[in-house]
Amino acid sequence: MTTREFQFIAGDLALDFVNTVGNRLGAADEYFRTAADVTRWARLAGLLGATQSLRLTDPQLRAITTTRETLYRVFRAVSASARTSAAMVASVDALFARVAPNHRLVIRDGLVRWEWRVPATHPARVLGPVLASACALLVSGTFAMIHECDGEHCGWLFLDRSRAGRRRWCSMRDCGNRAKARRHYDAIRRA
Ligand SMILES: [Zn+2]
Repeated sequence: MTTREFQFIAGDLALDFVNTVGNRLGAADEYFRTAADVTRWARLAGLLGATQSLRLTDPQLRAITTTRETLYRVFRAVSASARTSAAMVASVDALFARVAPNHRLVIRDGLVRWEWRVPATHPARVLGPVLASACALLVSGTFAMIHECDGEHCGWLFLDRSRAGRRRWCSMRDCGNRAKARRHYDAIRRA
């Protein structure tokens, strides 16, 4: 993905979170430069209400991006080999252990649900659901469905839910289109 805007194309919250760096394999573009950037992403992801905002210190902002990079390494390895390792699982488990004390089982209107008991300003409002989603994805064992976009320099990851399992692009509008244009010009050059 080259467009500098948040996209939710991965089919999984943890992978959408990982995809907040543009051009990962080229001149990488960091989308999370400030707490306001992370807030905007969290609102779009439905983790914060429209008027709620994170309040992050610099170390907390760094913790968010280093968590993201750990998840990237774990799921990129899964996308490449359709397997994971004890070390990778331990790294996710250690991150989840930090937010887990805030994960509470509650009942509201007769429905039992998980809730993150932290103020809207707290980084766990983002990292809690993201890490829970990463854990669920690992537990699901659907490793063969996790793919890396074929776009040059893109490096975005997604869960391929198509029946044929042949989805190649993070987005047809971005990497898919550019590949199509490149094939088109190659054909013209050859002609
Ligand atoms: Zn892509």
